Amino acid sequence: MTLSTAAEASPRSNAEPFRTRRTFAIISHPDAGKTTLTERLLAAAGAIQSAGAVRGKAGVRSTRSDWMEMEQQRGISITSSVMTFEYDGLTLNLLDTPGHSDFSEDTYRTLTAVDAAIMVIDSAKGIEAQTLKLFEVCRLRDIPIITFINKVDREGLAPLDLIDEIQGKLALDLTPVLWPIGQGVDFRGYIDLLEKRVVSPQGKPIAEYEAIEDLLDNAALVDDPVFMIALETLEMAKAMLPAFDLETFHAGHLSPVLFGSALKGISVAELLRTLGEWGPEPRPQPAIPAPIDPSEKKVTGFVFKVQANMDANHRDRIAFVRLCSGTFSRGMRLKNVRSGKDMAVSNPMFFFGNDRELAEQAVAGDIVGIPNHGTLSVGDTLTEGAIINVTGIPNFAPEIIRRVRLTDHMKTKQMAKALSDLSEEGVTQVFRRIVGADWIVGVVGQLQLEVLSSRVAKEYGVPITFESLNYEVARWIESDDPKELDRFITAQKMNIAEDRNGAPVFLAQNAWWADRAKQDFPKIRFLATKERH
Ligand code: GDP
Repeated sequence: MTLSTAAEASPRSNAEPFRTRRTFAIISHPDAGKTTLTERLLAAAGAIQSAGAVRGKAGVRSTRSDWMEMEQQRGISITSSVMTFEYDGLTLNLLDTPGHSDFSEDTYRTLTAVDAAIMVIDSAKGIEAQTLKLFEVCRLRDIPIITFINKVDREGLAPLDLIDEIQGKLALDLTPVLWPIGQGVDFRGYIDLLEKRVVSPQGKPIAEYEAIEDLLDNAALVDDPVFMIALETLEMAKAMLPAFDLETFHAGHLSPVLFGSALKGISVAELLRTLGEWGPEPRPQPAIPAPIDPSEKKVTGFVFKVQANMDANHRDRIAFVRLCSGTFSRGMRLKNVRSGKDMAVSNPMFFFGNDRELAEQAVAGDIVGIPNHGTLSVGDTLTEGAIINVTGIPNFAPEIIRRVRLTDHMKTKQMAKALSDLSEEGVTQVFRRIVGADWIVGVVGQLQLEVLSSRVAKEYGVPITFESLNYEVARWIESDDPKELDRFITAQKMNIAEDRNGAPVFLAQNAWWADRAKQDFPKIRFLATKERH
């Protein structure tokens, strides 16, 4: 397999192959610089020839499958979901999180498939809404985070203020790796605390030190007030912040911080180095009956995302599977634990942005795309036969609840099929009230509704619109006392729906009513998330 070529040549070659995988995502608020940084990272790792465009794999992998040709002939464009590239004997899998500001379930689920995240922060803005939301999702799984404070080439907030804000708002400890010397027009470079040296904006070492005080002997540096301020603030930061500790980082409680500029390529190589040196190997995956250790020999994986190509004539879909253990090889038969069905995986694929190639072999941490016609849904676990269910890939209680209106009543059947397909893909959730025949959809963000109506119209030829319902809150309901659950369902008959798996959901007019129900029925659990299987 071409993927392992670089790994074989490195000192890491004796390690089990999965130990060379680093699977991560970049999280940020829109405009913080995620796209620019992605391109720079790929360029720094040699995966693309120059920053500015994610062009292709340029020698990362040599064989181009006929998938590409098919894709071109059919004019399908699959948005870049995974970028796999080599760096320093490692295979890095960078998973793209959707860029729009509407927080979507897709983004959340993508974060269930990574072992680490890079959090990009605009130095002029600090923590923004979307950063906070995405960070909270990472925290649910204690994903280790590397913080990259971007745009030091511009005037921004003072480094100590930024650190203070991040620590305060995220309740996350930080520890500096690179410290900026000035910013904006006064940017002079940075102090690299790992390599113990001072580096120019162009990446050239200017001075080295054993103890940081040694730099006070360097006349050229000491003469520059910008440098002296940087040194002083660094001393304060060091006194205030914990030292780096790998275990605490891997536990998700301590984040190394780098200051840089994606646009100018400043500190990007160091970011890659930090990820390479400290980034975690594939982590055990929470599952029932027991967590899956990546070193287990049997193959397991789970679907975290399903993407249909937007070609109306071909309804095939790609399920993105994160491998959790074992060595997968092409042609293997895997069991879909949810449906109980076996499938021969004959055309698994690796991705690099829009390019893909057949995946001959893959290990824990790798992302494999499996084309299918609806047999695989988000949250499905694949195994060599064992009954294991990966956990932690929930549905979110929808925040927008709408009744679907069909203009052409002859098309009820097609609409039902469309909604069912798209709910399996995770585009929407579908509910049926126990009284009445309405189709109700629930989504987390407004954009999801737009995607839904456009896809139902384009791919199924069914024009639909949405109508407001008098509901703002949805909660799955559970109880250890089945009689109590029945009593609640009877009392609230008009406001009870079932999700696509038949699980009961309470629809409330607003948060006040939801709270009231909670108080009146203390033996019932009202859940804002529900596991998908
Ligand atoms: P995304 O929305 O997070 O993907 O952000 P982009 O990568 O598209 O960047 C948003 C804007 O910020 C673009 O105009 C970039 O050129 C600019 N930008 C990104 N990184 C830097 C940086 O380091 N310095 C400056 N001055 N601008 C940057």
